[in-house]
Amino acid sequence: MKKYSALKGTQDILPPDIHIWQKVEKVAKDVFTAYGFQELRAPIIESTDIFIRSIGETTDIVEKEMYTFSDKAGRSITLRPEGTAPIVRCYVENHLYNLPSPQKFFYSGPMFRHERPQAGRFRQFFQIGAEAFGIGEPKIDAEILSMLKLFFERLGLKGLNFQVNSIGCEKCRPDYRNALVNFFSDRINGLCPDCKRRFEYNPLRILDCKVDACIKLREGTPRVTDFLCSECSEHFNKLLSLLNLLNVPYVINPDMVRGLDYYTRTTFEITSKQLGAQNAVAAGGRYDRLVEDFGGPPTPAIGFAIGMERITALVKSSCKETIPVPEVFIATIGESAEKEGLVIADKLRNKGIWVEIGYAGNSLKSQLRKADRLSAHYVLIIGDDEIAAGKLKWKRLSDGTRGEIPFNEVYNFFN
Ligand SMILES: [Zn+2]
Ligand SMILES: [Zn+2]
Repeated sequence: MKKYSALKGTQDILPPDIHIWQKVEKVAKDVFTAYGFQELRAPIIESTDIFIRSIGETTDIVEKEMYTFSDKAGRSITLRPEGTAPIVRCYVENHLYNLPSPQKFFYSGPMFRHERPQAGRFRQFFQIGAEAFGIGEPKIDAEILSMLKLFFERLGLKGLNFQVNSIGCEKCRPDYRNALVNFFSDRINGLCPDCKRRFEYNPLRILDCKVDACIKLREGTPRVTDFLCSECSEHFNKLLSLLNLLNVPYVINPDMVRGLDYYTRTTFEITSKQLGAQNAVAAGGRYDRLVEDFGGPPTPAIGFAIGMERITALVKSSCKETIPVPEVFIATIGESAEKEGLVIADKLRNKGIWVEIGYAGNSLKSQLRKADRLSAHYVLIIGDDEIAAGKLKWKRLSDGTRGEIPFNEVYNFFN
């Protein structure tokens, strides 16, 4: 028989891990909702050109990592490698810019990149992200970072490092780009092949390279924050003072340029030392030009994405998550008790209580063993004697307390 297995770079998420995933999703939804973000569900597949247009033709994602295929009509389709471009496409297509600003959305779901599989990296990976449209002032940048701080606090995660930077705007970035070209022009021979190409197309991207030789050659690189125009520098300084006001701890990381072409001004990354080299748990930034690039009116915007695989790994290792267990296990002996048990189970379930029952042929002993293995809070025992007396036996497994209770009172016994 052929054995089937999940594709490389994909994984099944099973209980009990799924409870951690659900908790992270719930905390995100609760926290983001308090900041006025509403869920938006965009398709997982989109036209390939929206990603080329937004992420950038010369980025690793577009050049090497997209799952792109032709459909039966010969259209080029791509499984979304990230969440921002589809939301921007949706925002423009549905004329959401006609609604009062800001329009704030969050999303969650799988993303797809054909990366070399390595520890903690997946080809189908999950992100929760958020995007806010229509506000250019740094107040909303600060709100978003404060929202992320609250999100991580609610999950009980500590020791996270908030890194912020500004990469300028279309007015001041050319100066910085020229400075980088000057800086790297006599170092170009030492750069890795990817960076040699980046030098031609997008020298900023050299700052992102993880190759040791390139990291060494970067020593003394001009800093982007020294080249900001007065508007960008005012925006950045105002953001920093608002972060102080909101008690969001941060460090300025002038090397952080982010791997996508669409960012302007604020960029940020939240990292955890616990995760080794692949240590970013959330990242994002401003993209004040992207809505226009998609055919919408000039609309400043900012967003971020959180990596679910990394967050759930951190939550798993740093807090003792309680795994949900059944509230009640109903053990029965004999045919009429079995029927009685099934009816009671049904009514308790109707109240939203998790009830498990025994199945055909199991002795009382093996049913009790099963209740134990499931860590049920209570066992109810029903046999012919209990039916004759009109009372069933209950037992609390945590401390062995036991008692009897009339059949018609069992529904009020559990809340
Ligand atoms: Zn600028
Ligand atoms: Zn390199």
